Amino acid sequence: MTATRVKLKPSFNPKRVSILGSTGSIGQSTIKLLQQSPERYEVVALSARSNVALLAEQARALKPAFVAIEDATLLPELKTALAGTNIKIGAGCDAIIEAAAEPADWVMSAIVGAAALAPTLAAIKQGTIIALANKECLVCAGEMVMAEVNKHGTTLLPVDSEHNALFQAMDFSKAEMIDRLTLTASGGPFRTLPAAELKNVTVKQAVHHPNWSMGAKISVDSATMMNKGLEIIEAYHLFPVEKEQIDVLVHPQSIVHGLVSYCDGSVVAGLSFTDMRVPIAFTLGWPARLESSGTPKLDLAKIGNLTFEAPNEDKFPALRIAREALIAGGSAPLVLNAANEVAVQAFINEKIGFMDITRITEQAIETCRDSKTPASLEEVIALDSEARNCTASLIASL
Ligand code: NAD
Ligand code: MG
Repeated sequence: MTATRVKLKPSFNPKRVSILGSTGSIGQSTIKLLQQSPERYEVVALSARSNVALLAEQARALKPAFVAIEDATLLPELKTALAGTNIKIGAGCDAIIEAAAEPADWVMSAIVGAAALAPTLAAIKQGTIIALANKECLVCAGEMVMAEVNKHGTTLLPVDSEHNALFQAMDFSKAEMIDRLTLTASGGPFRTLPAAELKNVTVKQAVHHPNWSMGAKISVDSATMMNKGLEIIEAYHLFPVEKEQIDVLVHPQSIVHGLVSYCDGSVVAGLSFTDMRVPIAFTLGWPARLESSGTPKLDLAKIGNLTFEAPNEDKFPALRIAREALIAGGSAPLVLNAANEVAVQAFINEKIGFMDITRITEQAIETCRDSKTPASLEEVIALDSEARNCTASLIASL
């Protein structure tokens, strides 16, 4: 049994907060929570890739000290939109990292993809609280991220609903008595679609998730079930279990999110309504609970039925591919993540079909993984870029 990977530390009420990826689905849900009790928070920094209009609107409402936009060509536009305020403005990748490093008590990491890694590491170095929505940074550099968390005494609180439920259901003092962890999966929009029809599904169908409203990339990941594959790897890094102790269970209602099974046969599960404000509120209030989060309450009588089924790994190979990458170790999880990001984008751009996403990802892992785990951020960035180039060549040769 390995040591507890999520470090619990007595904390204080979050006060100074920053949001990395404030214009995204998680970022906007976080802002809704802050606006429930604006007097409790001082917003330090907001950041986004390119949505100037929304970023400026958020900045005018929340009055952060600093805003950062990744696309540097949009700096003049952002400056114009924030004229007359005394908000400091930055642009480019370095500005996103600067936003993450601004002293704060609580940082929401909600940039999508491996692009979140460097800013998340910068935020971790502060040694305060990271609410981690981004899962890709744990997939591509889980060992490094968790080592930094331990080194700086940072409190890492999972936002991803399954991991948040596991965190709440887990008795960290009895880690050796945990038998299994179970992540539930909705099964995505194509759960009941015959396998033969998957090759013809459109982007519009794939991004339309039955239960959750989310960004485009994670919605496509849910449709292929790669999201759950990435989440197995995420859970491995967050929790004190071995690779083989993590299961997936399809649960179309998405009410039960995670289950911890103990050695005596007891199972403790985490439930909530399908709204990401619930797990975000948990991290924002931690170690207390927010009294006035405004989040929807769970009404099980109204829901009536909760159903469960085993995942169909023949129809959705992503689970197997991700599990194999986790077991292979070395750079395999990093290549899995990079290849999947490139393939999902190619699917969204209508360059490849739905079934090509997992096929190409698996080919990319076979082609360019190596047995060495990247040991520094520079190595991760270099290998990530190599894996992206390799995937782009595979797509071009289709
Ligand atoms: P999204 O696409 O809606 O938002 C992404 C945010 O990141 C935006 O603010 C965007 O401007 C910013 N961004 C994108 N690329 C960037 C870059 N290169 N540099 C700086 N900023 C960049 O995504 P989302 O659905 O909010 O998901 C965010 C993360 O949270 C993902 O890792 C996702 O897997 C995870 N997550 C999301 C949900 C959900 O319900 N949406 C649930 C669990 C986990
Ligand atoms: Mg999830």
